[in-house]
Amino acid sequence: MTNRTSWDAVVVGAGVGGLVAAGLLARSGRRVLLLEAHETPGGCAGFYEAGGFTFDAGATTLIGFDPGDPLATIAEALGIRLGEDLRLEPVDGVDVQLPGVSFFYGRDRPAWEKSAVRLFPGASSFFRRLRRDAALLWGASRSWPVLPLLSPRDAIRDLRLLSPRLLPLLPSFGKTVSDVLERERAPADPALRAFLDLALLISVQSPASAAPWWNGALGIDLFRRGVSRARGGMRAFAGALALAVERAGGEIRTRTLVTRLAPSSSGWVVKTASGEEFAARTVLPNLPVRDVARLLDPGTVPERTAASEHTRLGDGWGALVLNLGLSRVVNDDPRRLHRLVATRLDGHPGDGTSLFLSFSPPATPSRRREARRSRSRRTSKSSTWAPLRGEEYRRKKEEARLLLREALEREVPGLAAAVAYEDLGTPRTFQRYTRRSGGSVGGVRMTRGSFGLNALDPTLGAEGLHVVGDTAFPGQGTLAVAMSAALAAERLGAVRLERGGTLGFLAGGTR
Ligand SMILES: Cc1cc2nc3c(=O)[nH]c(=O)nc-3n(C[C@H](O)[C@H](O)[C@H](O)COP(=O)(O)OP(=O)(O)OC[C@H]3O[C@@H](n4cnc5c(N)ncnc54)[C@H](O)[C@@H]3O)c2cc1C
Repeated sequence: MTNRTSWDAVVVGAGVGGLVAAGLLARSGRRVLLLEAHETPGGCAGFYEAGGFTFDAGATTLIGFDPGDPLATIAEALGIRLGEDLRLEPVDGVDVQLPGVSFFYGRDRPAWEKSAVRLFPGASSFFRRLRRDAALLWGASRSWPVLPLLSPRDAIRDLRLLSPRLLPLLPSFGKTVSDVLERERAPADPALRAFLDLALLISVQSPASAAPWWNGALGIDLFRRGVSRARGGMRAFAGALALAVERAGGEIRTRTLVTRLAPSSSGWVVKTASGEEFAARTVLPNLPVRDVARLLDPGTVPERTAASEHTRLGDGWGALVLNLGLSRVVNDDPRRLHRLVATRLDGHPGDGTSLFLSFSPPATPSRRREARRSRSRRTSKSSTWAPLRGEEYRRKKEEARLLLREALEREVPGLAAAVAYEDLGTPRTFQRYTRRSGGSVGGVRMTRGSFGLNALDPTLGAEGLHVVGDTAFPGQGTLAVAMSAALAAERLGAVRLERGGTLGFLAGGTR
């Protein structure tokens, strides 16, 4: 079956990256088709309904919505009115629980500075440097850096980042978070290292010893910087993006599995499981590069490049997510809605010693259902789940469920009696619902070898192909994948991303 309509751009995958790419291209006047395998949009930042509750599937928090920040700029460009089409509620910070130390890490700068001096004596210089560099890096992100440099044009474009204000960042180019700790003579305090590793793991997927400072400083700073939640959860966020695509004239087809991307004389042909074929001048797979490789003809340049880039960059982490629907509110302390918990100071990612807990915000009368959700997430190696079959899988899943329940009940006394619904998502679950190979959801682990100039070439060396999403620069998280989509729209000549955080649309054909 051939669908003879031809499109300026076909985007594959309606995760946040795909929705933003489709929205920006459609708004610039391109004819855009967005194909999504699942029944609803959102991907890892999507939602599902079960037991009478609506749960976030993966992401729960948003960042980058302060005025002038990239997500706020993108939302505005897509015609999403903040406060009306999408209501955001600020998250003050995160409650950190380590053996022997607990503290609140959040937006209130003087309060945090006082706590940091008391909690981590000797690390003041490190925290001062973190504050300064994170502020400079957030400022630089408003100039939309583009990486890796694919052409002299990219290099010239990035020259606008050069400003005397950014000079203090130069000495830390290529350094890791651990290098900066050492340079600032921070003490070898296991609690400080455990805290930084936790904050880094949920943001850039790498511990302090491997995370590049330019990326890691932003990751550590996340909870101090304008984190928010969408009222109505990720369903509201994904819904607002999908509506924006359609309002701009883009077409979204859900329940449509793409099985092949083949080059043609006029661009690309996108083939689906039901036998449809769509011709497009440009194709934008919003998928991990490993899954892009699987859609391309074996042996072709982009297929070989995608496969070798996957080998070079590796897989991200998998996640275990325990979602609970509760019969009553068990945590109404607004400062403890998000908690980072480690049960040991010498734990490692994936060994079950650390957790990220989120509770739905306190209820208003119209939002009682929303106020009764709790979730607990821990990192797990997706490769350990892949080979498990039948009883073996069920047993490992039950062990993981019990561990997470136990940890939650320790954190929230009285929780067990309030649980009305419960389910656990494993890397297998993510593989099934988001179709990410191996169920790995973490994007690229940020290291010196994968960041910046070493980031994935999103064109895979092919004309009319542009990978977006969390294996492309600048990485994982809803903010980063939205930026990857904006950068793709710029490379395709649809938008102009200006210094100072503006985004303008350009007329003309998609490259
Ligand atoms: C448990 C968890 C918690 C997280 N917490 C946060 C958080 O609090 N804040 C934050 O900012 N980020 C968070 N993240 C990260 C964030 O969710 C992801 O980085 C981001 O959503 C990835 O978006 P994406 O568009 O790149 O990819 P995806 O969300 O994976 O989207 C890809 C889409 O493509 C579709 N698809 C796949 N194959 C095909 C095919 N062949 N044909 C058609 N469609 C296809 C999938 O169904 C999916 O909808 C979290 C992630 C997880 C898993």
